[in-house]
Amino acid sequence: MCGIIGILSNKDVSARILEGLKRLEYRGYDSAGIATVLNGVMDRRRAQGKIKNLEEQLTQKPLSGVLGIGHTRWATHGPPSEVNAHPHLTDRVALVHNGIIENYQDLKEELEGYQYRFETQTDSEVIAHLLTHYLKQGHDPVEAVDKAVARLTGAFALAMVFAGETEMMIGVRQGPPLAIGYGEFDEDNKTRDMFVASDSYALAPFAQDVSFLEDGDKVILRRDQVRIFDKEGTEVTRPVRKTAQSGLVTGKGEYRHFMLKEIFEQPGVVGDTLNSFINPATNQISIPPEVLDILSQAPRITLIACGTTYYAAMIAKYWLEQVARLPCEVDIASEFRYRQAP
Ligand code: GLU
Repeated sequence: MCGIIGILSNKDVSARILEGLKRLEYRGYDSAGIATVLNGVMDRRRAQGKIKNLEEQLTQKPLSGVLGIGHTRWATHGPPSEVNAHPHLTDRVALVHNGIIENYQDLKEELEGYQYRFETQTDSEVIAHLLTHYLKQGHDPVEAVDKAVARLTGAFALAMVFAGETEMMIGVRQGPPLAIGYGEFDEDNKTRDMFVASDSYALAPFAQDVSFLEDGDKVILRRDQVRIFDKEGTEVTRPVRKTAQSGLVTGKGEYRHFMLKEIFEQPGVVGDTLNSFINPATNQISIPPEVLDILSQAPRITLIACGTTYYAAMIAKYWLEQVARLPCEVDIASEFRYRQAP
């Protein structure tokens, strides 16, 4: 599962993007990269392997700019390599993508017909060329994003910055999550640093106020304005919440790797989660009645999981069916989206 972070500021962003990427490391990745816009011109650094490789590159060749995007990649199309690492860059746009573009082959052939040259084996690169194609036809960045997104099938979260646009970033969500982070207001009480990221954990050191895009949403971020549009193109608001994440907890702690950390954290996490349903005085478990009401009204219940959670879901199916008499099914997360709902 890859990670995305984007920062729009009035101070250099690459160190903060790097910090955000480190907070996304726990999701797993094979390469990482950063692109920034400086005086309207875009540049990037990418590296295969650990974020410290990217950090070394940035030490040797620093990247300035008050607007930038970063990515940790989990390759789906094309091997893990520096050349396939995001951000993807043309002379007009830089973008990071989480997910898969299912019709990328058709789009690639079409764009090659217009003389676009592909450097990578990724599905994501088609989005960069498609956007460039529409920008070159005279569309502004927002129109180009609308036209390009309308052509994409698959699952994607995107963060995009544009040549010549030092004060705007666009994010899109169709499937994988994308959160917006709102920084503290500057002294003028009008402008503030703005962020997008795959989760609020990556944003925790920078923004306590977050909102989450819904499927089909597009966000246009500026330092003095945030505009969100739903899949019909209607301007909408999404609730702003205080994040409970701490900016301090980060990294693998004393553990050798993140999987080990997660295994050892399980008793605490499971305990905290169950605590809200257990009355320690009576030793009674109480599930809020509205949960069962909602479930019993659902036309169908599908538990979607993978690996160990698949086994956990089988146990949940047993409980739901035996105890609550609610029939349900379990499906494998990676396959579910390709199955026709009966
Ligand atoms: N499908 C894209 C790639 O292979 C993005 C993968 C990801 O979500 O990291 O580059």
